[in-house]
Amino acid sequence: MTNASMSPLHAAAIETWHDEADVIVVGFGVAGASAAYEAAAAGSSVLVIERASAAGGAAALSDGLLYLGGGTPIQRDCGFDDSAESMKAFLKAACGPGPDEAKIDLYCDESLEHYQWLVDRGLTFTAGFVPEGGGPSPKDGEGLLYTGGENAYPFDEITPPAPRGHAVQGGRPGGAVLMRTLSQAALDAGARAGYDTQAKRLIVDDDGRVRGVLASRYGEEIALRAESGVVLTAGGFVYHPEMVEQYVPTLARTSLRLGTEGDDGLGIRMAQAAGAQVKRMDAIECALPFNAPRGLVSGILVNRRGHRFINEDTYMGRVGQRALLEAEGEAYLIVDEANYAPNWLGVTATWVCETVEELEQEIGLPTGSLSGTLAYYNQHAEAGEDPLFHKRTPALVPLTAPLAGFDLRAEKFPYAPFTLGGLHTLPGGEVLDLDGEPIPGLFAAGRTTSGIAAYGYCSGLSLGDSTFFGRRAGRAATGKTA
Ligand SMILES: Cc1cc2nc3c(=O)[nH]c(=O)nc-3n(C[C@H](O)[C@H](O)[C@H](O)COP(=O)(O)OP(=O)(O)OC[C@H]3O[C@@H](n4cnc5c(N)ncnc54)[C@H](O)[C@@H]3O)c2cc1C
Repeated sequence: MTNASMSPLHAAAIETWHDEADVIVVGFGVAGASAAYEAAAAGSSVLVIERASAAGGAAALSDGLLYLGGGTPIQRDCGFDDSAESMKAFLKAACGPGPDEAKIDLYCDESLEHYQWLVDRGLTFTAGFVPEGGGPSPKDGEGLLYTGGENAYPFDEITPPAPRGHAVQGGRPGGAVLMRTLSQAALDAGARAGYDTQAKRLIVDDDGRVRGVLASRYGEEIALRAESGVVLTAGGFVYHPEMVEQYVPTLARTSLRLGTEGDDGLGIRMAQAAGAQVKRMDAIECALPFNAPRGLVSGILVNRRGHRFINEDTYMGRVGQRALLEAEGEAYLIVDEANYAPNWLGVTATWVCETVEELEQEIGLPTGSLSGTLAYYNQHAEAGEDPLFHKRTPALVPLTAPLAGFDLRAEKFPYAPFTLGGLHTLPGGEVLDLDGEPIPGLFAAGRTTSGIAAYGYCSGLSLGDSTFFGRRAGRAATGKTA
């Protein structure tokens, strides 16, 4: 990490502008590619700068799942009814507490248009429904998945479940196909790319309007002028240890990070230095990929008190958040012989015991805690009920000894987090200052911003809202649309 200043520079102090465009986009990941495409397609000159030597970012490493709904052709072909209203009801419940309702409304109302936009850019999706989604990355031909617990409690009681995770087809990982396609679309639309160029500071006029970016290229500082707007699409901050320590200290316990070294929060910090407001900086996505093969969700998850804390059949990202933030990163999965199998990551049980009392003791849980939990769980499971967490059949079965315990403590198991907090933006991409007013000339999207998800997440929402709001930020930065 550098201690170099991030304070904005005054345009009047710039002696030489090394390059200029109507719109400068910072970061050629998925939000940046979408912003650059739209700005160029609107007729603006666009320069997209990228600190790496190629477009891609975390998006190119990703599974290429996009959260889309409202009745896409893929949903219809797989036999699912969906509507914008149902999608809104689900997302408002699942992305909270405190989700950005204005963003959710727009995202759902225009999801079909966005699906078509992705297809028009050259992406393909397929009607291969995967009934047991939520584990390993989708393979080619697997096209539609439940990716947010839509068919689990409490969401299945709020609105009829519909799967909305659409997997990009054409090779694995799907994110590489996604990024090859969208970055090429942006270049074909006329955007220019400047690689190995890292934005460091914003450049502002005397009246506070953002006028450009100071960047570093091969050790040389260059000033880049933006006639109408700068769009920050530089990823999140999961790779910035000090920001993680400041906002989400619990993450220090997990070893894995979903992202690239570009997720160093610089886009957020340089905007903060120019007066930008941040939002939900403590919000994270944190998948706990324990749940495949699917038989494993017939087990029960317990905390260090031997108590259950969630319905095991819900989305693994929900489980991960609860396990890390509420169960203090100390979780154990208890399964019986009938459903035992090594986890899809190859992780096997740490403890195998003939009785529940023995297992409780081996794990180090308080005496009587796990045995009490299991007796209560089994008594109700036999009647097809889970009064505490409403786990559904077929995953709701009594567990009989011998039993096995998986060690899911944060230090032992690969929790997979990335950050969801960032700049506070309007749905159009305008970055707000501390008074809640748009900072003239400054726009942002993707994980540099706080998007659709507040404290809840569904797989596909990050690529989904990065592309969707990236497009809007790119258009707004041209000054040609409201
Ligand atoms: C293994 C993996 C699987 C995932 N699977 C999914 C999935 O299936 N669905 C989903 O929705 N999400 C998924 N994600 C998360 C998703 O990929 C990211 O959240 C998403 O890419 C964020 O988009 P973005 O445009 O904000 O950031 P990125 O795609 O990371 O792009 C940001 C770009 O900005 C560049 N940059 C950073 N700082 C600067 C700077 N100062 N100057 C110039 N350039 C800069 C970076 O190098 C990068 O290229 C996954 C992530 C990983 C790692």
